[in-house]
Amino acid sequence: MWNDDMKDLALRCGSDGAKAWTDWRWQIRHSVRSIGTFERVLDIRLEDDERAALEQTLKTFPLCVTPYYLSLIDREDFRNDPVFKQSFPSVHELDISKDDISDPLSEDKDSPAPGITHRYPDRVLFHVSNLCSMYCRHCTRKRKVGDKDSVPDRASLAEGIDYIRRTPQVRDVLLSGGDPLMLSDDHIEWLLKELRAIPHVEIIRIGTRMPVVLPYRITDELTAMLKKYHPIWVNTHFNHPRELSKSARRALARLADAGIPLGNQTVLLAGVNDCPRIMRKLVQKLVQSRVRPYYMYQCDLSEGLSHFRTPVSKGLEIMECLIGHTSGLAVPTYVIDAPGGGGKIPVMPQYAISWATHKVVLRNFEGVITSYKEPDSYEPINCDRDCDKCQLTLKLDGAVERPLIGIEKLLADSDDAITLVPADNARYQRRSQTDEAATDDPEDGRGSLG
Ligand SMILES: *Cc1c(COP(=O)(O)O)cnc(C)c1O
Repeated sequence: MWNDDMKDLALRCGSDGAKAWTDWRWQIRHSVRSIGTFERVLDIRLEDDERAALEQTLKTFPLCVTPYYLSLIDREDFRNDPVFKQSFPSVHELDISKDDISDPLSEDKDSPAPGITHRYPDRVLFHVSNLCSMYCRHCTRKRKVGDKDSVPDRASLAEGIDYIRRTPQVRDVLLSGGDPLMLSDDHIEWLLKELRAIPHVEIIRIGTRMPVVLPYRITDELTAMLKKYHPIWVNTHFNHPRELSKSARRALARLADAGIPLGNQTVLLAGVNDCPRIMRKLVQKLVQSRVRPYYMYQCDLSEGLSHFRTPVSKGLEIMECLIGHTSGLAVPTYVIDAPGGGGKIPVMPQYAISWATHKVVLRNFEGVITSYKEPDSYEPINCDRDCDKCQLTLKLDGAVERPLIGIEKLLADSDDAITLVPADNARYQRRSQTDEAATDDPEDGRGSLG
């Protein structure tokens, strides 16, 4: 890891040895924040007019990259380099189209307390830091990057914790940001201690890109502290196999050795990883480092990302090239985060290709078409949701029943809803205006968003 190339680069950053280089605070202090420094450190030269155009980009979307992450760039072919593309601005970031949205996931709208996004029934996203050691050019929260006004202080974090404390359905808290590992160990420990003291919080997840962009942040002290607050899960964000350097793999091993299950969230990015071969290598290398590929995201509609977007068909093609072709453990779920705040929607190639009363016809990854004979004698259980009278044994304390939501409601035996109707559906609004006594009014409970 500490080689001659890196020594040159470190010297140009102002370091004279491996000791400073592997100190994460040194890396943050020496982060590259201007085009000129980027050129000098990487020993590359841009045309004057390109540099001037990029300076404009930086006024809207600032630049910040750790010397470590920069050292992964292949200087000989930097324009095509996946690390360069994720860290160096592009003039296309200012091509903001009418379809772009500043907060496409409506995270600010679904926020009942400072820093909290509560979108799903049983878990919340908790933005505990708006700082990052490196600004990903494809960041979905680009609108907030470098915004000094939204650094959460302890008082506003305490309000978030308070919300979780008084909301008993929250059993899973995802610490996100920014990067939560930009906070000091003490600060993180304070957060974990507060959250652990809440009885209904079952698991805590940390979303961080540190293993990718600043692996030296994963110190023995950090992992020794984290493991006191188990169950802790960590999700990280590798996008290209080249990012799994020796230092990155060592950081992942430290986390895994501390008993922390690791997941990875990849974003599908044009020019970086929109290739089945690259993606297969990435997921296989992750599994080798004990990281479970968790999600592959379709690139969001955030402003300034249009040059990174691929069509959804590219994602489906990649899934087609993974499923069956490599270990199931290495296959992530491909998701589109619904614009407007509907949450993550999984998409898959079609494997069930036809049905008859007694048979399902399926195809496998090789194109072999097969059929599965349905059972002749399945005794359907009419579920009235009275688990105490059911032969299937649940008998679990605290397995509390919850209301049916969405499609689940349409499928249930115990519910007579026959439609899910958007609340502002014009056809239903017309009905309620013309027919006061309408029996199928969406408000009567037969059809609602539940
Ligand atoms: C992604 C996300 C979660 C977690 O979703 P999982 O599918 O449980 O990983 C929770 N809240 C918000 C707002 C999210 O975007």
